[in-house]
Amino acid sequence: MSASAKLPPFDAADPLGIDDLLDPEDLAIRDTVRSWAADRVLPYIADWYEKGELPGIRELARELGSIGALGMSLTGYGCAGATAVQYGLACLELEAADSGIRSLVSVQGSLAMYAIHRFGSEEQKQEWLPRMAAGEVIGCFGLTEPDHGSDPAAMRTHAKRDGDDWVLSGRKMWITNGSVAGVAVVWAQTEDGIRGFVVPTDRPGFSAPEIKHKWSLRASVTSELVLDDVRLPATAVLPGVTGLRGPLSCLSHARYGIVWGAMGAARSSFETALEYARTREQFGRPIGGFQLTQAKLADMAVELHKGILLAHHLGRRMDAGRLRPEQVSFGKLNNVREAIEICRTARTILGANGISLEYPVMRHATNLESVLTYEGTVEMHQLVLGKALTGLDAFR
Ligand SMILES: Cc1cc2nc3c(=O)[nH]c(=O)nc-3n(C[C@H](O)[C@H](O)[C@H](O)COP(=O)(O)OP(=O)(O)OC[C@H]3O[C@@H](n4cnc5c(N)ncnc54)[C@H](O)[C@@H]3O)c2cc1C
Repeated sequence: MSASAKLPPFDAADPLGIDDLLDPEDLAIRDTVRSWAADRVLPYIADWYEKGELPGIRELARELGSIGALGMSLTGYGCAGATAVQYGLACLELEAADSGIRSLVSVQGSLAMYAIHRFGSEEQKQEWLPRMAAGEVIGCFGLTEPDHGSDPAAMRTHAKRDGDDWVLSGRKMWITNGSVAGVAVVWAQTEDGIRGFVVPTDRPGFSAPEIKHKWSLRASVTSELVLDDVRLPATAVLPGVTGLRGPLSCLSHARYGIVWGAMGAARSSFETALEYARTREQFGRPIGGFQLTQAKLADMAVELHKGILLAHHLGRRMDAGRLRPEQVSFGKLNNVREAIEICRTARTILGANGISLEYPVMRHATNLESVLTYEGTVEMHQLVLGKALTGLDAFR
């Protein structure tokens, strides 16, 4: 028997054999999330996207809670206690359906719940985390303001002491889940520096008008947060952190999920293009038989699976407690940029059909325009890496 006869067959879905790195529990979690998305998102997503809405978001959140996808890698308080790799696999499967669904899960788990889990008091954790893990309460994370995005240190939202209470004032912008949230984690200036506040959204003075007319992440709720002298008890502040380190460490956790998620959008677009190339005929043969199409497919496959391998590597580092924020920037910069490129190339393979919502490709490409900007723009991650490489700060 020749050596090659013992080799496993080439698998177009996993050309590098990355699945060999996964154990049965990883595969089971991936299958659960994939089949949930196939049942509950894929049949409806084009319609939601076209209408620019996410109907039944509360029901979807409860279902995501029931499969353990909310606050998935956190421990205790009803959270699944999954590994970072397992959380990443879930993000990939959710974003293969739509970036809006992955955003719902990222903001809930990696931003709002993570902030409370890492920096909250025991009382705050008990009050919010079990209901958030179950999807009974949706959370949002308010950092960005109309005039302060990439430079959140300059934020104007502020909290002042009034006796034992805090009074919170300001505006936040582009807040995912804002108008459906039961609780908002809001970052504000105080006398002691930036602090996080856990704000029940039914407090007088809090409102969250929805932002309309988006051409990206259309199946996701995005809102302003208006904080008009919102009075909060002394216990509303997150006691465990002061300064920008608080929100930045939450963002690092969420960005890690995006490193995986972006590859989900890319995988969906690649698979669509591959199937199309096999079946669409021009000049008397499948377009996949033309060298130019094969070059596109080969390059897409290389970037897709390199990106998944990179995500896996970062996941293992996170599980080992060795993942640096610069490494997360490396992954977010590369994988989102390459995912958009894969979607754009897939779109060309589909020709005119590439612009139709009948296929997922253009939807993924336009979604990724938001993913490219939020959680640190491409330029911010280039500056993070540039600073780490040179030792020189080029932010200002
Ligand atoms: C759909 C969506 C959902 C979002 N969800 C949330 C959320 O849930 N919570 C939240 O807090 N925020 C959220 N955001 C906001 C997002 O994080 C910000 O949009 C992002 O941080 C960029 O800020 P900005 O839009 O104000 O752009 P700006 O900071 O104004 O940047 C504009 C451009 O200038 C570049 N730039 C800025 N400074 C420099 C520099 N020093 N050097 C070089 N280039 C620079 C940027 O890279 C960018 O290209 C969301 C955004 C979107 C689109």
